[in-house]
Amino acid sequence: MKIHEYQAKQLLKEFDIPIPRGDLAETPEQARMIAERLGTGTVVVKAQIHAGGRGKGGGVKLASTPQEAEKLAGQILGMKLITPQTGPEGKQVRKVLLEEGIQIKKELYLGNTIDRAACCSMIIASEAGGMEIEEVAKATPEKILREQVDPIVGLRSFQARKLAYGLGLDKSIIKQAVPLISSLYQLFQNKDCSLAEINPLVVTGDDRLLALDAKIELDDNGLYRHRELLELRDIYEEEPLEVEASEHKLSYIKLDGSVGCLVNGAGLAMATMDLIKQVGLEPANFLDVGGQASAEMVENAFRILLSDKNVKAVFINIFGGILRCDTLATGIVEAGRKLELRVPMVIRLEGTNVEQGQEILNNSGLNFTGAADMKEAAEKIAQTLNALKSAK
Ligand code: GDP
Ligand code: MN
Repeated sequence: MKIHEYQAKQLLKEFDIPIPRGDLAETPEQARMIAERLGTGTVVVKAQIHAGGRGKGGGVKLASTPQEAEKLAGQILGMKLITPQTGPEGKQVRKVLLEEGIQIKKELYLGNTIDRAACCSMIIASEAGGMEIEEVAKATPEKILREQVDPIVGLRSFQARKLAYGLGLDKSIIKQAVPLISSLYQLFQNKDCSLAEINPLVVTGDDRLLALDAKIELDDNGLYRHRELLELRDIYEEEPLEVEASEHKLSYIKLDGSVGCLVNGAGLAMATMDLIKQVGLEPANFLDVGGQASAEMVENAFRILLSDKNVKAVFINIFGGILRCDTLATGIVEAGRKLELRVPMVIRLEGTNVEQGQEILNNSGLNFTGAADMKEAAEKIAQTLNALKSAK
């Protein structure tokens, strides 16, 4: 689960990491009042969306008076903010964070994430933080420092010192950096994060370390241990179809392609997506109805799949085990009765009760193409879509 910058900063504060003074506004008037309260000097108006790169997209602006803050908030609130991380459709801004403007001497990067290959968490730091960190990692990888943390021992103090010294900071700042690195690690661990990132972590004009930006992602599997964090969820930021799917206990992720997939089992879903790519197409989603799906869940899955306007063909790929083929077939037929099937559909069934499943489908009057195996199914989808394209 992703959370907003202003929420992430409250977590940083809880762990004694310094953040700028600021407050959240949902209207331009509120923005002006907050700016007045923050006092003289520059204030920063920052769009709150679940994506980074806001600075580049025009979502972070400096105002020198409360009136200007009000005007900028008016421009940012409601805008469709497009950043390198939002995709071309952008994200609508509903809230802005107003903060005291900070004089920046240096922008650093500090992040905690999981090193899946090494099965441990990893701390990443760089003296070249700010908006170009991706470029830095590509062009000058030696400027990216990494420390793997043994999950049993935890972060050792020498590791925090090694990172702090590696950033090439003055003595007085190294002294602040060591506990800060360790605090971020504590936060990352205690709250079951999959990402905790401060970019930029700045050295201010008066030589303080301050988290100017914060990005935190929480591991969904750890959320049951943190009821209070569940309240930070903002469903406006999530893909509506994904929210609906999660309500039906379906594992669904929207993608950009044209082939809608309905599959049971995550491994089979990955293999199905591979096959779609192999025939030159792109999957419109990842959808795992799970091993224990009922006919009703299959029906919901089918409906969610079809409500994606990008879906030009449907690929149903089921290996019946605990989910029996007849249950699946019943769900598809039920859904097919209620919904208009506006695209071609290819079905491959195998496994438990496959004969009964086939019979239900064949007698339903549903318009679909059968396939003996996965590869044949993918090829049939490609042929059908190509035929449709050349017919146009
Ligand atoms: P992001 O683009 O979504 O990562 O948003 P950030 O919060 O990182 O802001 C982008 C950039 O805006 C930062 O790298 C800073 O250079 C600049 N910025 C943000 N807050 C301040 C501030 O208080 N003072 C100044 N001078 N620059 C700021
Ligand atoms: Mn940033």
